[in-house]
Amino acid sequence: MIYKNYINGKWISSSSGKTFKNINPANPTQILGKFQDSNKNDVDKAVQAAESAYESWSSLPAAKRGDILYRAAHLLKENKERLARIMTLEMGKVLKESRGDVQEAIDITEYMAGEGRRLLGHTTPSELTDKFCLTIRMPVGVFGLITPWNFPAAIPAWKIMPALICGNTIVFKPASDTPQSAIELVKILIRAGVPKGVLNLVTGSGQGVGRPMIKHDQIQGISFTGSKQVGEFVMQNAGLKKVGLELGGKNAIIIMDDADLKLALDGVIWGAFGTTGQRCTAASRIIIHKKIKPKFEKMLVKATKKLKLGPGIKSSTDVGPLINEKAVEKVHHYTHIGINEGAKLLTGGKIPKKKGFYYEPTIFTDVSWNMKIAQEEIFGPSLSIIPVKDIDEAIHVCNSTPYGLSSAIYTKSLRNAFLAIEKIQAGLTYVNSSTIGSEIHLPFGGVKGTGHGREAGIEGIDEFSEIKTVYFDFSGKLQKAQGIK
Ligand code: NAP
Repeated sequence: MIYKNYINGKWISSSSGKTFKNINPANPTQILGKFQDSNKNDVDKAVQAAESAYESWSSLPAAKRGDILYRAAHLLKENKERLARIMTLEMGKVLKESRGDVQEAIDITEYMAGEGRRLLGHTTPSELTDKFCLTIRMPVGVFGLITPWNFPAAIPAWKIMPALICGNTIVFKPASDTPQSAIELVKILIRAGVPKGVLNLVTGSGQGVGRPMIKHDQIQGISFTGSKQVGEFVMQNAGLKKVGLELGGKNAIIIMDDADLKLALDGVIWGAFGTTGQRCTAASRIIIHKKIKPKFEKMLVKATKKLKLGPGIKSSTDVGPLINEKAVEKVHHYTHIGINEGAKLLTGGKIPKKKGFYYEPTIFTDVSWNMKIAQEEIFGPSLSIIPVKDIDEAIHVCNSTPYGLSSAIYTKSLRNAFLAIEKIQAGLTYVNSSTIGSEIHLPFGGVKGTGHGREAGIEGIDEFSEIKTVYFDFSGKLQKAQGIK
């Protein structure tokens, strides 16, 4: 099957005439489809279409745009199982997690549909008489959306739905490892009634499609989720566009000596090996009080060895494949780095002899905070255990990486919990729960090298709208502020 770009209401081939293949990471010889390998010409066409559609879409009352999103949410619900299966085949994650990914897309679509009847500004008194002050929200213009492969429905939906409800038009470039999920999402929005030109999809590489989007003069906003490296490229090349960046993480779970270890164990297994460690919020560091380290390590190794590797589509599988061969090489490379740095390998560290891009869940212990395996994002099932003596050292180590996305602490002490809440440099802190799992009505994002901006929740609206301040003077004379007579 050959899939096309969707530009100005039509499914069309790329100007290059070239395509690229999408494969199943659990069975790399299985080709799932061919997709358009687009270039700058296709981006130009999509931007043109988005610009032409902008006036009428941004003038449509937001509640009417919301009606379209409500229909989209309904269609997503009807298609949930089908979309989850497509996702597991092209991305590899276990089916129940793919269902969760689609559910997140449904939730954000409903939430943003409701925003059609809010899109709140605020009113405030004037310092002068007979004068009224308020703020209103305006769309930004044509928005370029660039997304990664690890949440093939949720992340595009986190961007598309608020962008649409705010009245923007869109050029959307999905990751090349998961284009089919993106196409399915776009098809649903078309069926829900998104008019031609409002949402345009262009598939192809980061260089061929993403780069010209970032530099495009007629694109006013870029919302990017992906690696820190490409995020920095976006920052350097987007000029004066409105930019949102959701980048990587090196998230830690702190386990104090008063923690419920069974609860912490469940959180660590889910945080480190859920989605095969390929979540921006995945736990890749355990910062543990040295008193409980030997006991917890035994529990953790035992539980990790029980995890079943296999295709995500099989219900018995706990851990699916990595996204591609390059990812397997990267995780294995970090295993060698960890060994060479002097960390102790507790379990895993091997590429299993089976078809598919698998990697054994891997745990290092006696890791120091400044080793590469404790500082750099591996983005796979590789976990480092770092012993500490108290809460102050735990927080210091937690803050020692260039990233600041998610964090967690297991403790029964209110003091420890509140110190973590106050002192950890991260966009998210969980108390007695894992680093992963967000709710769409709360803001999501990070600090430091994780980028800036917040998606989802009411703050997600700020990413895709501009605020206009309105002064309405009904005094009938020229009134000057700041006491000027
Ligand atoms: P990536 O390599 O940065 O790619 C992300 C997107 O950017 C893809 O669509 C990619 O296209 C495109 N791209 C690549 N090079 C580009 C360039 N020079 N100019 C413009 N676009 C370019 O990241 P990834 O491997 O897909 O995703 C994993 C990363 O995303 C991890 O670092 C993870 O932590 C992060 N992430 C962050 C969040 C968050 O919310 N903070 C959520 C999920 C993932 P191709 O696919 O065609 O290469």
